[in-house]
Amino acid sequence: MTTRPAPRANLAIDGTRLWDSLMQMGQIGGTPRGGCNRQALTAEDAAGRALFRRWCEAAGAHVTVDGLGTMVARREGRADLPPVMIGSHLDTQPTGGKFDGVLGVLAGLEVLRRLDEAGIRTLRPIEVVNWTNEEGCRFAPAMLASAAYAGVLPVDTALAARDRDGVSLGDALDSIGARGDRPVNGPAPFAYLELHIEQGPILEAEGIDIGVVTGGQGLRWHDLTLTGFESHAGSTPMRLRRDALRAAAQVIEEIARIAERHAPAGVGTVGQLAVAPNSRNVIPGEVRLSVDLRHPDATSLAAMDAEFRAWLAALATTGVGAALTEVAATEPVHFDTHLADLVRARALGLGLTTRDIISGAGHDAFHMASIAPSVMIFTPCRDGVSHNEAEDILPVWAENGANVLLGVALDLADTPA
Ligand SMILES: [Zn+2]
Repeated sequence: MTTRPAPRANLAIDGTRLWDSLMQMGQIGGTPRGGCNRQALTAEDAAGRALFRRWCEAAGAHVTVDGLGTMVARREGRADLPPVMIGSHLDTQPTGGKFDGVLGVLAGLEVLRRLDEAGIRTLRPIEVVNWTNEEGCRFAPAMLASAAYAGVLPVDTALAARDRDGVSLGDALDSIGARGDRPVNGPAPFAYLELHIEQGPILEAEGIDIGVVTGGQGLRWHDLTLTGFESHAGSTPMRLRRDALRAAAQVIEEIARIAERHAPAGVGTVGQLAVAPNSRNVIPGEVRLSVDLRHPDATSLAAMDAEFRAWLAALATTGVGAALTEVAATEPVHFDTHLADLVRARALGLGLTTRDIISGAGHDAFHMASIAPSVMIFTPCRDGVSHNEAEDILPVWAENGANVLLGVALDLADTPA
């Protein structure tokens, strides 16, 4: 891809309007603690979708909806070329914030608004996407609609996903009138851009304005069952015990050691622990726990996993049995280096500081990267807090991120075939 300099270098988004829109969207499903509960395909989501549609149409865009409810607001270009796509999600966690996902969608809207009022017609169309069910809290998997769009997840599987009450995603779509007739699969855009809050503490701590996201972590998720032997806590001598919880303590420590050996990028977590029989005076006979290993480099991730498996095999000779089941495995994502260069250049042109950063969380851009050149732009978020009602950002962070997004979108939208 070659890119020529954009002719409208000084065009800027309206930061006040962007912030007002974020606050207005945040009232839909707004919680008393200032967060948001706008889970996928609920009445609140329907209201958020309607508002987004109204705003897009007022900005002159044409909104279509696909068979999984994903909304695409399109601004035509001068040529019928593959579009520049900007996307993120309006759904939230049950006790989520006002910015995770919403910033990316409404910054895209702000790009549409600004181009509309400036009367600028780009060469390529620009599309702003609201992906259905990114969060994964109501329907699994997370990032469901972008996975289907990219052909990673069959549409029928997505439609059959059920929430905790047994409601299928297909029925939930119909119940709020969110199922559209646009085909779900593709087409691949010319490029995909996603602006998102970092959901981590690095940018704020280092005083950096813009994170240039070069990739995302791969992960290995395991369920591990440790089997010892239940016996009396008072009458069983220490040397005769087969204590599953003591073995679990060793596992927890070893996961941390493995991650630290692969520092600073490697991370490892035991986040769930179920002890049986979980009684004060019984030596634990069984512990089930989760293992989460992540790294942005495929070789290092494989090494972390192999080190854990080898260590676990040795543990199993100590009288406590270990049964490991892999429940998820994804490879690291690498974003497009040319697009990352554009993000850096646009940020620099605005006098903003940047650093390269790896995404610790999953995003729709991960799936889009499998079908189109893609990149993400991170803004700082207060104390790194996300998936929390206390999630917070400064208006200037949103404005900076949206201005970089606008600049990169213009660079790409004026790139000929
Ligand atoms: Zn998100």
